[in-house]
Amino acid sequence: MTKNLAELTSIKIGGAAAFFYEPATVVELTALLAAHPDAVLLGGGTNIVFGAMPRRAVISMKKINAALNEWREIAADEIRVTVGAGKPLAEVVRQAVAGGWRGVENLIGIPGTVGGAVAMNAGAQGRAIGDAVEKVVGVDYGGTPVEKIFTPAELGFAYRTSRLQTTPIAVVAVELRLRRTAVAELAPRAAAWLAARAACRIKLPNCGSVFRNPAGEKSAGELLESAGMKGETRGALRVSPTHANFFENLGGATGDDFCDLLDRARDAVRRRTGIALTPEVKIIGEFCRKN
Ligand SMILES: Cc1cc2nc3c(=O)[nH]c(=O)nc-3n(C[C@H](O)[C@H](O)[C@H](O)COP(=O)(O)OP(=O)(O)OC[C@H]3O[C@@H](n4cnc5c(N)ncnc54)[C@H](O)[C@@H]3O)c2cc1C
Repeated sequence: MTKNLAELTSIKIGGAAAFFYEPATVVELTALLAAHPDAVLLGGGTNIVFGAMPRRAVISMKKINAALNEWREIAADEIRVTVGAGKPLAEVVRQAVAGGWRGVENLIGIPGTVGGAVAMNAGAQGRAIGDAVEKVVGVDYGGTPVEKIFTPAELGFAYRTSRLQTTPIAVVAVELRLRRTAVAELAPRAAAWLAARAACRIKLPNCGSVFRNPAGEKSAGELLESAGMKGETRGALRVSPTHANFFENLGGATGDDFCDLLDRARDAVRRRTGIALTPEVKIIGEFCRKN
């Protein structure tokens, strides 16, 4: 099935995928990974920018174990939650906060799927999902695809990254470790974080933070702002006038616009500070001169 990838990403950029699949079961997924070992896995598409994909297959993970949602109390104050890769992360966070289980409340408001969050080690407020992962069930497709269990140590969670970004493993389910706390304490804290996000939400299509924060005191957004990038435009893509680490699609932006603006932003910061920013967003396909 061919597919317009722009429809599947939050920033609404993407060319056509010549081979697009949306398996409903792990068995189907395993067969697809055997046939397409260089496939790109797609979750909610909230941290990915595609060019054209004329050769590599794109496999949507959204239906993989999307209904899996098992909550198992193992002690009065501890629970293990097994959720599927295709499940929206927001649903898990909402259920945990409402039930008085702490460990993922900091992820409130982060869009995308559970599988994508684990691959990216998504986080906020100084904590990331990897901090709550007990184990991951994944299909290792480095050779003949096989389902395996991975420990957090094997997956090397670190700031906005994990080994899932560099090794051929498709996350199909995740077990999280949460602890009992008072709803009355947890819910207002989560609500305040959500309100803070809503207050600075960018209304135009975007892909979240474009660059990782570098080591040092200044965030990528601060460095980009100091380099005069706010409002800078390439084609139909603009550096947000409110948050310089977000690029917003003004309507009809292309992958080339994205790469041009990314290069321009990186060069501006490098010239001013000597710091080489690295993209957090995944840039995949045939359009870029660099990256
Ligand atoms: C408005 C907005 C706000 C955001 N705020 C935050 C934030 O506060 N903190 C934060 O960390 N991120 C944030 N993000 C970025 C993004 O939401 C997260 O990185 C999210 O966890 C990505 O999940 P996804 O399902 O959309 O993954 P995708 O964008 O679809 O994919 C991201 C990467 O994960 C891989 N992947 C996806 N699913 C799987 C799977 N099942 N198995 C293996 N690999 C997989 C993909 O191949 C790709 O490399 C934000 C994005 C937006 C648009």
